[in-house]
Amino acid sequence: MEDKIRINELCYSTLSSDKPNTFETYIDQGGYSTWKNIVSSSMNKKEIIELVLKSGLRGRGGAGFPTGRKWSFINQDSDDIKYLVCNADESEPGTCKDRDILRYNPHALIEGMLITSYAIGAEVSYCYLRGEFIDDVYSTFKTALNDAYDNKLIGKNILNSNINIEIHDLIGAGAYIVGEETAMLESIEGKKGFPRFKPPFPAVKGLFGRPTIINNVETLASIPKIIENGPEWFNSIGTKDSPGFKCFSVSGHVNKPGNYEIPLGTPFKKLLELAGGMKNGKKIKAVIPGGSSVPVVPGEIMLETNMDYESITKAGSLLGSGAVIIMDEDTNMVEVIHRIARFYYSESCGQCTPCREGTGWMYKIIDKILKGNGTLEDLKTLESIPNMISGSTICALGDAAAMPVESFIKNYKEEFLKYIKTQEEVADNNYTNNNNNKEFVMQQK
Ligand code: SF4
Repeated sequence: MEDKIRINELCYSTLSSDKPNTFETYIDQGGYSTWKNIVSSSMNKKEIIELVLKSGLRGRGGAGFPTGRKWSFINQDSDDIKYLVCNADESEPGTCKDRDILRYNPHALIEGMLITSYAIGAEVSYCYLRGEFIDDVYSTFKTALNDAYDNKLIGKNILNSNINIEIHDLIGAGAYIVGEETAMLESIEGKKGFPRFKPPFPAVKGLFGRPTIINNVETLASIPKIIENGPEWFNSIGTKDSPGFKCFSVSGHVNKPGNYEIPLGTPFKKLLELAGGMKNGKKIKAVIPGGSSVPVVPGEIMLETNMDYESITKAGSLLGSGAVIIMDEDTNMVEVIHRIARFYYSESCGQCTPCREGTGWMYKIIDKILKGNGTLEDLKTLESIPNMISGSTICALGDAAAMPVESFIKNYKEEFLKYIKTQEEVADNNYTNNNNNKEFVMQQK
């Protein structure tokens, strides 16, 4: 990895301009030329999918699924109506990268949506924005959309080509769960945002029962330059299995929190440097590398880890949405997981029992421990709950709630034990005849 990190070259490329979000700035930077070339040459749709497949681009919403492969699930030979949905319901705590694309480079997203719609054969697409974006983010995107319509880049008979693509914008009501792709489809259809059982997957039966591709903002905004510069350009950046640039939202105890677009595979140390290093010269204690739903990693491990899918998995966590939450040596880890557990408890849609009951159960035990009323038995129960939730629910929120709790106890158990220290005698008195508890105390030792 070169010493000087290349930053903000793809989705944040317009940030170098004084007026980053305007149609004129995007055009000055060569924007919409890829779309115009596709339209004028009636480029083969399968060829576009092949280019994206070759680039190795992986979905930037969290799952990291190869984008070209997802597109290839659409039956190109079917005349059935197809849809594209852009997931701009960015709600994962710590994540704030997509709103900056919408705010500072909305035309890259619009051009990406046009190219993707064309490639998968969708004449109608939707951009579903998070409810809290109602102010400047939404209005900036809406202005950009209107400008693209006014310049005949969207709509009917685009640039006299007989190509028709409409892009509609929608704004949610503020529920985290609507960021789950099938819940988003329900919401667009005017229903309550409840996740659906899968299969069938959206590429087979999605919006209004039709084949649908759902991609994240950053994924779609990356498409124009990948097509323009070629897949070799894209996969020459980053690592073999994690090619290209990725936007990371850095927050927590750093001097310069913010969004940084860097090549995947960049050492975490470099990202920390870009973010101005640790605040007040404190030592790093822990990092949540991919949004609040992924396991926490001790700071000393992160300092030796690179920011790509494989390296972070090896470090015991997930790259997720790329929200890097950095905590210093003074951080109270029980307070942190208390906050995270409360979030997932309140955002569970309640459809499945393990998630509905398990998230509340975990939160209530952590709350009890934090208030100094927890026993060793409570901690043991808390330790057992994530396993009962994981893999037993309709959508990934169950796992998202379970993984952090599991990892916080695994890595910082002594902090939980400090809270129940004063309870230890009580626990001993209460459970002296309880063999399970004795075994648990033995495990602590
Ligand atoms: Fe709802 Fe939770 Fe089940 Fe997802 S896992 S469908 S959020 S209850």
